[in-house]
Amino acid sequence: MNTDLIINGSKIKGLAEKVGVVNPANENIIVEVPSASIEQIDDAINAATVAFSQWKDVSDDTIREAFTKIVKDIRSEKDEIAALITLEQGKTIGMAQFEVEAGASWIEYIASLEIPVETIQDPSGKIIQIFNRPLGVVASITPWNWPFMIAIWHLFPALRTKNCIVNKPSEYTPLSTIKLVEIINRHLPKGVCSVVLGKGAVGQALSEHPQIAKVTFTGSTRTGQSILSHSVNTLKGVVLELGGNDVGIVLDDADIDVIAERIFGSAFLNVGQTCAALKRLYVHENVYDALVERLVKIAHAQVIGNGMDAATTFGPVQNKAQYEKVKALIADAVSQGGQIITQHQTVPEQGYFIAPTLITHVHDGIAVVDEEQFGPVLPIMKFKDVEDVLQQTNLSEYGLGGSVWSTDIEKAQQIANRMETGTVWINSHSDVSPAAPFGGWKLSGLGYSFGLDGLLLFTHKQTIHITA
Ligand code: NAD
Repeated sequence: MNTDLIINGSKIKGLAEKVGVVNPANENIIVEVPSASIEQIDDAINAATVAFSQWKDVSDDTIREAFTKIVKDIRSEKDEIAALITLEQGKTIGMAQFEVEAGASWIEYIASLEIPVETIQDPSGKIIQIFNRPLGVVASITPWNWPFMIAIWHLFPALRTKNCIVNKPSEYTPLSTIKLVEIINRHLPKGVCSVVLGKGAVGQALSEHPQIAKVTFTGSTRTGQSILSHSVNTLKGVVLELGGNDVGIVLDDADIDVIAERIFGSAFLNVGQTCAALKRLYVHENVYDALVERLVKIAHAQVIGNGMDAATTFGPVQNKAQYEKVKALIADAVSQGGQIITQHQTVPEQGYFIAPTLITHVHDGIAVVDEEQFGPVLPIMKFKDVEDVLQQTNLSEYGLGGSVWSTDIEKAQQIANRMETGTVWINSHSDVSPAAPFGGWKLSGLGYSFGLDGLLLFTHKQTIHITA
C-alpha cells in the first residue's frame, strides 16, 4: 500500500505530520500517511510548471493513447483499487467496483471529446479564429465520499485540455487516489500529474499558491468559500462543486411500484454520502402511505456491516465527525416531534454504523430538512399542493439537484422547469452523466463540470484576428 507523495514522477515520503487513515467499519488505523511539507508542495507545483512547457503542445493522439493505457491498467487492477476504496471509505465492495469501472468509462468519454476551434467572420469580413488554450498548473482538492471517481472527474478534463495538475485527496481517503496517480504516472511524462497528501492546511497552501492558474474543488460549502476568498490576490479561476440539499417531489400519479427502489437507491446512495443524493422527500398525500410503507420495507431489507463482506448492502458512515453529525440531526428531529418509522436495527458495535433511517412528522425549519445531512437519514414530508412545495423548497440556500416523480412526463417537466437547481431528474435522481453539464446554483457551487463545459473550464480563449 503506497503512502508516498508522487512528485515529478517519483514516490517521495511526506516530511510533515503523519495522519492515520481509519477504517470506518472497525475504527482501526489502516496506515499512517505522512503529509507534504510546504517545500514539497512547492516542488510539486514547480515540477508541474516545468512539465507544462512541453505538455501544452502534446498532440491529441498522444493524450488519447496515454488515456487508453491508463484505463487498461485501472481495469486490470480493479480488484485491488476497489479493495482500497472499501477499506478507507467504507462502501460495499460491489459499489467500490462500480466506482472503479464508472471512473474508467468516464476517462474514455473524456478522451473522445474534441476541443473546439472556431472560425468566425466579423461584420467587416475579417476572419477570427477562436482557440481554447490550456491554463497551466491546476490544483485539485477532493473529498472522501467518492474518492477515486471524483479524482477522475478533476484530473482527466484538466489533462485532456493539456494542463498539468497537482491533486490533494481528503486526508480520510488518500489511498485509492495515490494508486490512481501512480497508474497515471506510468503513462504520462513526469511532473504532469502529482499528488500531495495532508489535511486542509495542505489544500490551502496548494490552492493559494501563486503559480496555480485554477483550483478545482469538490467538498463542503464552507471550504469552497474559503478557497474562493483566497483566490482574490492572484485572480485565479475557481471551480466549486459543493454541498446540496436535493429535494424529491412525488406527484399523486407516480407509479410507486416503479419508483420506490429508485428513491431509496438515491437517498441512501453510498449511505447517503453523495452530493446529489435525494436528501428531503415531499410526497403527495394520495400516494404517501403506499410509498412510505414500501420505503420502510426496503430499509429493513438492508444488510448492515463491513463493506468487505459480500453479503453487506449497507456500510458505515465514513468518519466519526460525520457519524456524530448525522446522529445529532436524528436526535434533534425526534426532539421536535419527528417519528422514526424504521425499526431499530442492530448494527456492529465497532465502526460508524447507522441503520437507514426514515423520519416522518418533520417539516421545514427542522435541521434534518433544512441542512445537508450527508448520511443515512431521509426526512419525508406529506403535501397537498405542489405549488406550496415548490415555493418552500426554492427558498433553500442550496441548488444542486432535484427530482420530480410522475407518470405524466409533461406535467413533471413543467415542475422541473421551475426548480432552482442545476440538475433536475424526472423519475430518477443522482444519475449524473459524463456528457451533461453538472453544477450547483446558490451555495452549491460555481461553474459546471462534465461534458464539453467541464473541459473548457480548464482553458482560456485566445482569438487570432487575421487581416490579409
Ligand atoms: P471538506 O470541505 O471538509 O473537505 C474537502 C477537501 O478540502 C479535503 O481534501 C480537505 O482536506 C480539503 N480542505 C479542507 N479545508 C481546506 C482549506 N481551507 N483549503 C483547501 N482545502 C481544504 O468536504 P468533505 O467533508 O470531504 O466532503 C463532503 C462535502 O462535499 C459535502 O458537503 C458534499 O455535498 C460535498 N460534495 C459535493 C460534490 C459536488 O459535486 N457538488 C461532490 C461530492 C461531495
